Parts: sequence; C-alpha cells; structure tokens
Amino acid sequence: MIPERAENSRLARAALRRLPAGARRRLYRGEARFCPVCESRLARFLPFGGSGRADAYCPVCESLERHRLHWVYLRERSDLFDGRPRRILHVAPETVLALRLQALPGATYVSADLSDPRAMLRLDLMRLPFEGDAFDAILCSHVLEHVRDDRAAMRELRRVLRPGGIALLPVPPIRAERTSEDPAEADPAERRRRFGHPDHVRRYGRDYPERLREAGFRVEELAAVALVGEAGARRLGLGNGDEVFRCGK
Ligand SMILES: [Zn+2]
Repeated sequence: MIPERAENSRLARAALRRLPAGARRRLYRGEARFCPVCESRLARFLPFGGSGRADAYCPVCESLERHRLHWVYLRERSDLFDGRPRRILHVAPETVLALRLQALPGATYVSADLSDPRAMLRLDLMRLPFEGDAFDAILCSHVLEHVRDDRAAMRELRRVLRPGGIALLPVPPIRAERTSEDPAEADPAERRRRFGHPDHVRRYGRDYPERLREAGFRVEELAAVALVGEAGARRLGLGNGDEVFRCGK
C-alpha cells in the first residue's frame, strides 16, 4: 500500500496503474465510497491535484469527480443507455469515459481533439466538420476554458446537436460571479496566475450558463446533491460545487 501522504503524485499513480484492476480493487475495497464508472466499492478515493483535493481520484478506473458526476447524470437522466442507436461526440476524450461510451449498446462513437493523437479526429471546435443535428449526445469536458472564441465553439456544438439531444459541457469549478478572460494573453505563467492553468484563457463565473443560453442552448442546472442526495454525493466523492449544466436545443 502506498503511504497516504505520497498518494497524490504522478509516480504513485503510475505505480498503481501497473497493478491489474482486480488488485487495485482489492487494495482499496470498502463500503464508504462507490465509483459509478467502474462500479467499485471502495474505502475511499485518493487525493488529486495541486491542492491535494481529498476524495477525488478513483484508484481503480482513475475517474475524478466530474467523470463520476456526469456518468451518473447520463445514467439517471438520459436515454443513452437504452440500447437504441445513438451518435455520440466526445471532445477531448478522457480514457476513463471513452472506453465506457464506446461500449454502450447502439452507440456510434466519435472522439475528437485539437491535437491529442488518442482522439479519432483532429478538429477545431470553432469550425466543426459535421452536418447540423448530427449527434444525440455530446460530452466536452473542461475544454471551453481553453478555446479562444468560446462563443463560436458553443454555437458550433449547438449546431451539431440534434433537437432533443443532450450536451454536457462542464468547466472547472465556478467560484467567481463573473467570467474573467483574456484570449489574447499568450504567456503561460500569466495564464496560470489569472486563470489557474497555463493553457486556460478564461475562468468561468456564475454567468457561464447565461453564456451557453446566448449561444442558443436551453440550459438546466442541477447540483450533485440534488441529483443523488447528500449521502449519495459523499459516497460518490462529490462536493458542494459539483453541478451539471445540461444543454439542449
Ligand atoms: Zn472507478
């Protein structure tokens, strides 16, 4: 077992990854936590991120809070799991969800990224190479804060979503009232200081859903606690700030 204080490091995670999934599951088995993505019962989630956020990382499938929240949301509040044919677009695909979305019965799955070679297509979100109404579901997580013209990207994502479809476009935790941004800022150190990451050109505020609505989306906001209850949120390792913005058209 890796000492708890050393768990939040790339090295520790790499060591863990080398173990078979069954061994990881046995190592952390318990009843206090549940990962809905890999369906593991766990004693706890591991810390993750620069600030060592507790209860974050699944030691079995590597899911983080946002993966678990949106996976549960799709299970509980969408018809994506009913086996009928669906076209799914996954932008900046996280492996943990890519594997499971691809395996859904009836799914035609497309992944895309600006540069990641693991994605099936290279594309620019501001100009999508798809016809209108092409997808039943779109997952584009922690991407818009990187995009120079996020309003153009939102309009494009809306254009390729079919009426009645579901788009989930989560962004990093929202703390400020208003969005602050500077797409012209090119200095990684300045970007990190102002927006929290060397590749971010904005930090979204409480006005994020408003911006999605301006792009033409209908937006429903749902906090994790409203979705699964307080005890449920704790068990899934979700916090107060975790919420879903469901976009439709
Ligand atoms: Zn998991």
